[in-house]
Amino acid sequence: MAYWYLRHERELLLDLDFATKHVKRPGSKGPQTRSEGFRQRLQTAIREGLLDVEAVWKSESNTERKYHVAVLLKKPVSELEALIWQFHFFSDLLRSKSDLMRYAQGIKPASLLIRNAKFPQFWREPDAQCPCVKKHDTAKMMELGESACDVWKRLRGANPWSLFGRTADVQRYVILPTGSVPLELILRRDVVVDAPQSKAKAEVILRSEVKHSGKYCTVQWKGKK
Ligand SMILES: [Zn+2]
Repeated sequence: MAYWYLRHERELLLDLDFATKHVKRPGSKGPQTRSEGFRQRLQTAIREGLLDVEAVWKSESNTERKYHVAVLLKKPVSELEALIWQFHFFSDLLRSKSDLMRYAQGIKPASLLIRNAKFPQFWREPDAQCPCVKKHDTAKMMELGESACDVWKRLRGANPWSLFGRTADVQRYVILPTGSVPLELILRRDVVVDAPQSKAKAEVILRSEVKHSGKYCTVQWKGKK
């Protein structure tokens, strides 16, 4: 079962990915993990009277070492302000930028959390639930088309692919010159293919790349040939 929490007007919903992982060089200034970064930044916001907080919940997310955090405020904040606070409190970058883009495009809900258990001791019930056990993987849901999860179709809104495009294959670095940067360097795609068994796939990629951006496409093998 999956439980869907859409952000209500007094809530901030955070997805702290790898919350305990070091995000800074040990010894450098400031919080070393996302979890501690969240705590310190929320402390600052409360101490300086920027946010009036009623309660905070933390719960393991669906994956190990990831946490969901909900902050209940005493007064509603505008949706844009809530999304910026979520970003500021180290909520997952991909989720935060997708939320902001959904907001900018007028897609509702802009922000939500999907959990495989209810938020323990939370102040309210989830907004929706569906029978899915596995994560609502965008590629999988797109592939399922009409048979995809109904709640996902109704509530997920635009997915990261339609907001920002599909993630590119692993590419070799292209160093951009200073000054005027030729667009052809931006578009250059030298695809790096990891495994020898994906040679056939690499050739398909290469053909489509050649069509797409011409002479700049090469495939570099990282594995054995
Ligand atoms: Zn579902």
